[in-house]
Amino acid sequence: MSFDVAAVRAQFPILNREVNGKPLVYLDNAATTQKPQCVIDALVDYYSTCNSNVHRGAHKLADEATRRYEGARDIVAGFINASAREEVIWTSGTTESINIITHGIAQQLKAGDEVVVTEMEHHANLVTWQQACKQAGAALKVIPISDLGELDLESYKAALNEKTRIVAFPHVSNALGTLNPIADLTRWAKDAGALVAIDGAQGIAHGAIDVQALGCDFYSFSAHKLFGPTGMGVLWGRKELLAEWPVWKTGGEMIATVTYQDATWNELPYRLEAGTPNIADAIAMGVAIEWFQSLDQDGLKQHEAKLLARATELAEDFEGLTIIGNAKDKVGVLSFVMDSGHPADIGFLLDKQGIAIRTGHHCAEPLMGRLNVPGTARASFSIYNTLDEVEQLFTALKKVRMMLE
Ligand code: PLP
Repeated sequence: MSFDVAAVRAQFPILNREVNGKPLVYLDNAATTQKPQCVIDALVDYYSTCNSNVHRGAHKLADEATRRYEGARDIVAGFINASAREEVIWTSGTTESINIITHGIAQQLKAGDEVVVTEMEHHANLVTWQQACKQAGAALKVIPISDLGELDLESYKAALNEKTRIVAFPHVSNALGTLNPIADLTRWAKDAGALVAIDGAQGIAHGAIDVQALGCDFYSFSAHKLFGPTGMGVLWGRKELLAEWPVWKTGGEMIATVTYQDATWNELPYRLEAGTPNIADAIAMGVAIEWFQSLDQDGLKQHEAKLLARATELAEDFEGLTIIGNAKDKVGVLSFVMDSGHPADIGFLLDKQGIAIRTGHHCAEPLMGRLNVPGTARASFSIYNTLDEVEQLFTALKKVRMMLE
């Protein structure tokens, strides 16, 4: 049975709207995905029926809210196959998750240590490590990529040694769509004795992962790129590491005991979750994951691959257009530049035709420098996009080319 894209689309109310008098064609999914009705309903239902603070309340609503909220943690733990629910730390998103990892590692970094990242990092997984290295006097090694946008695996292996404290890399590049061989990258880094932190912001929406099978130490992701709400995310980390870490925020919930002069810390996951949490969005994230898991996973992967293959075919035949990022393994991201105009103008003129893409440096400024482009136009596909929408993009791009020439 083929993947029923119409049935999936029908669950996303926003896809019915018009933009500039044209039906919306939403191709900015790497920035954020749209939300199915069940996720929107989960938010409304929480606030309408059981809004309350979690953990400390002595009443029915608090009990219900706590059960839903902690239930969502179980859903996440199952989704990524965490070995324990307390390894799932709620955060505001990938950026905050990576900052917590960096904060934990930074305390141990010293001059002479090395941290390894790649040329394809999002700023969230670069600036954090760059600043930690600067403060500690540690070296930041940046692994090169090829002109196709693939990581240079020989340089990667050669960079690993007994001084490598941690290796941080993206599961998928947001700017290029490159799908990295994360299992190999993890194994080589572990063999060298380094910790491994995977930036899963873009990888997570392309199928469940198994953190235990991967053998990494940390995996970070955001709900909003996985059909869930904004302002919500997860840091998954091995509990023996997280349990030892210095707390990064202090306040309510994260303490065990407090006197005027001192305090002791709560257990995981709470020791890393100070203050009233983002209860509604955690619950809605759980709903988004269950919804995503209910779909035919092979079917959705094949559907996405078809969208990318057709878009690539049309792009290759399009005069004056150059694809940026031609890795052998890619997800549904088509980054490109056109001879006729700047990416910002392309984005503006597509929007006039109801088509939403992203333009600019995609929070990967050094990568744009490496690829010698000011920025790119990026169309990114999700499971609710259709082959017809891919065709519409290229019909619209022809108009854009005419207008700019
Ligand atoms: N890492 C990658 C690869 C991303 O694409 C993004 C967001 O686009 C982030 C990290 C940061 O995610 P967030 O803004 O949700 O914290």
